[in-house]
Amino acid sequence: MIKHISVGNVPVELERKKIKNMYLRVVPPEGQVRITAPMRMGEEEIRKFVLTKLDWIRTKQQEMENRHPQEEIDYVSGEKIYLWGNPYQLQVQEKNVRPSIQAGAGLLVLAVKPEAGKEQRKKMVDTLYREVLLKEIPPLMAKWEARIGVKATGFTVRDMKTRWGTCNVRTKKICLSLQLAKQQPRCLEYVVVHELVHLLERSHNHVFKSYLDHFLPEWRQIKKEMNGKAAI
Ligand SMILES: [Zn+2]
Repeated sequence: MIKHISVGNVPVELERKKIKNMYLRVVPPEGQVRITAPMRMGEEEIRKFVLTKLDWIRTKQQEMENRHPQEEIDYVSGEKIYLWGNPYQLQVQEKNVRPSIQAGAGLLVLAVKPEAGKEQRKKMVDTLYREVLLKEIPPLMAKWEARIGVKATGFTVRDMKTRWGTCNVRTKKICLSLQLAKQQPRCLEYVVVHELVHLLERSHNHVFKSYLDHFLPEWRQIKKEMNGKAAI
């Protein structure tokens, strides 16, 4: 039988088994904390143990919160490339011209030199992703900073492999994943709101979630969609 307890605002599922030692796990994709404890171990002892592990739990949860998949693309004609949640068919034109990339009518036309390899092609697509993000992010940040009543010192876009975004609460700098350009625009908006709310509350506790409920009531749905592709 599983008992639900809360330690330092962290919900914990506590299961008793005929075992000798206590086990603590943070389970993906939601980062639920699960403890398996010996039958007779006192709840106070379990709570104390969880309290000593809170920092570790929060780190684990944050990692899971922001994880997303990295699908392999070879950047050859016919492959699907996503931009703002829409699939574009990649059309590679090998020409001796200045490399360019253009999205329109379901096609992503990439003109590269014949010798351009996968890395260079990827670079072109990433450049497009960066451009569209750099255009979208500033107005989104301004809108949500005003609504939330916080001010970040700036943002960067990085090709982060395992996270959608991070917020350094000390420097108030926000970092957003290049991968967000592949998702629906509302995913970018959710991550911007999520990271800005960290300036009010650094951990993913109930206070943090109630801010999200207040500012972006549909956040759970968006998060679920992003989790469907892995986990945010
Ligand atoms: Zn977070």
